[in-house]
Amino acid sequence: MINSVYSNKDIFLRELVSNASDALDKRRIECLKDTELAENINPEIKIEINPDAKTLSVSDNGIGMSRDEIIQYLGTIAKSGTKEFLKAAKDSNAQQELIGQFGVGFYSVFMAAEKVEVITRKLGTSETYKFTSDGDGSFTVEDAEQRGECGTTVTLFMRQPEEGAKNYLDEWTVRDIIGKYSDFISWPIYFKDKIINSRKAIWQRPDSEITDDEYKEFYQHLTHDYTEPLAHIKINAEGSTNFKGLLFIPSKAPFDFFMNPDSGGISLYINRVFIMNDCKDLIPEYMKFIRGVIDSEDLPLNISREILQDEPIIRIIRRSTQRKIFGELRKMLENDREKYITFWTEFGRTFKEGIALDPENVKTILSLAIFRTTDNDGWTTVEEYKSRMKPGQKGIYCLTGKDNVAALRASPKLEPFTSRGYEVLLMTDPFDEWMLAQGAFVLPEEEADFLNIARDDVTPYSDDEKKANDEKLKDIDAEFEPLRKLALEILPDKLEGLRPSLSLTGIPACLRDGPGGISLQMENLMRSAGRVVPPQKRVLEVSAEHPVVKKLVELAGKDSEKAGEILRVLYDEALMIEGVMPENPAEFVKRVDQIMTVAMEDG
Ligand code: ADP
Repeated sequence: MINSVYSNKDIFLRELVSNASDALDKRRIECLKDTELAENINPEIKIEINPDAKTLSVSDNGIGMSRDEIIQYLGTIAKSGTKEFLKAAKDSNAQQELIGQFGVGFYSVFMAAEKVEVITRKLGTSETYKFTSDGDGSFTVEDAEQRGECGTTVTLFMRQPEEGAKNYLDEWTVRDIIGKYSDFISWPIYFKDKIINSRKAIWQRPDSEITDDEYKEFYQHLTHDYTEPLAHIKINAEGSTNFKGLLFIPSKAPFDFFMNPDSGGISLYINRVFIMNDCKDLIPEYMKFIRGVIDSEDLPLNISREILQDEPIIRIIRRSTQRKIFGELRKMLENDREKYITFWTEFGRTFKEGIALDPENVKTILSLAIFRTTDNDGWTTVEEYKSRMKPGQKGIYCLTGKDNVAALRASPKLEPFTSRGYEVLLMTDPFDEWMLAQGAFVLPEEEADFLNIARDDVTPYSDDEKKANDEKLKDIDAEFEPLRKLALEILPDKLEGLRPSLSLTGIPACLRDGPGGISLQMENLMRSAGRVVPPQKRVLEVSAEHPVVKKLVELAGKDSEKAGEILRVLYDEALMIEGVMPENPAEFVKRVDQIMTVAMEDG
């Protein structure tokens, strides 16, 4: 498993340096809060190799770890080593999850080392501890001789390199790896008594000088996400407010993206000095999938989280960053649709929430939204949909349903529209349903509204057609009266009407939402979220041509009890077509069983 996540063994060194750098960042912040801790510090990371003893060590004088922290951070990883990790070796999803949970970062040392020893002393304490593990699932923590200064030293007892593999105890191998992965680390990295990293913050360098690999390395350093980012966004704002930024659009949402409000976000630097991770004031909530760094020299170094929000400079940065991101997404949408679809599949749902959260930018966000459509197998923007609209079309037709596009494509509600050449947007995101209900998709100056075709009053007919249709229906309407009466009698809280239809084909019945009420999908959504929903009445539309309906119409006049049973089954079927379970599935099954028994007796 370790080998499959890190196909490249070099990464263990990057991980150690990254951890050391984080530890120095954390120490600096503690010292800002408590000046007594700020003794004479010379922050540094030191790498040492000893080919005779076969050891490689990375030291820092950062924040260090307490005994509890060692157990919590390093122990969990060591413990889960053999059991969980190796078990998960074959399942790549589980791998992702475990990496997220335990931070395989440190664990990666066991790719190259047979044993690891960590000596650490936490800032502000005098105890030093030694952690030892050989990655087999066990570890020890013991008291150790006091370390001169707070910080951590990780010593690896290296494995014998395989034939032809890199030897990490070789000076040039170490230089090479640091140059490649850790050059931009802002703290000095000493090796053989010299600083070997340029410490040039990558976001400070001109775009033309940075290679794709460097962007990738930096992204991975920042996010611990080992997939390649979809795109990077370089920001260089000069003028009344100066700031630089390097942002990334990841290609995959972290496994805990929806559960963990603190995963992701943008790190704030002030004049190259790290201030905080996940600075929520730098970016709107619905863009929180964006990762990266913003660095401004115009902010005071001692800025606190509390006052950030009201800091005018932060607001300017936020606005301009947001604009940049919109621009980058538009570019991707126009020039690389495939990439954009990847982005949208991962983050579209989050991004779309901006329609509700950011009234100022509704138009922009909506123009960047893509939807599934009946026109093709792919996706479309609203603009593209509009360009294909037929003359006389009343609006942007859409149909909402549960997550499954295939089921939605098979919906009988589509046929009357698609057979007339109308395209229908297929909306499978619960949020779409909510947006439609809120009318949030409708823009004041738009000439075309979004019309949910599940609604009773949304039809594809032209005025002439509608008239002819109404005439025909009037003729047969009387036949349906007994069935209508029966329906209202047996399902008084569910139905407000029953209506024959000439356009419904393939299935006997479907449910129509009233124009003002809560739609079936919405109702279902609210109930599953534990909300109390007042009873909603709908219209049961029955196909005048369907054999079941034809027989049922006859039966309703003769045997209302039997017809009532069949009608209940039709109602439950209409629910299921929408992906909603019948209220009482056992009763439904009983009724169907009965019908089957009779059918087999006759046959
Ligand atoms: P990650 O860095 O992704 O959190 P790691 O497995 O690399 O995961 O490390 C786990 C934790 O151990 C870190 O989050 C940190 O709290 C602690 N840690 C690791 N190395 C150091 C270090 N050099 N100094 C202080 N704490 C460290």
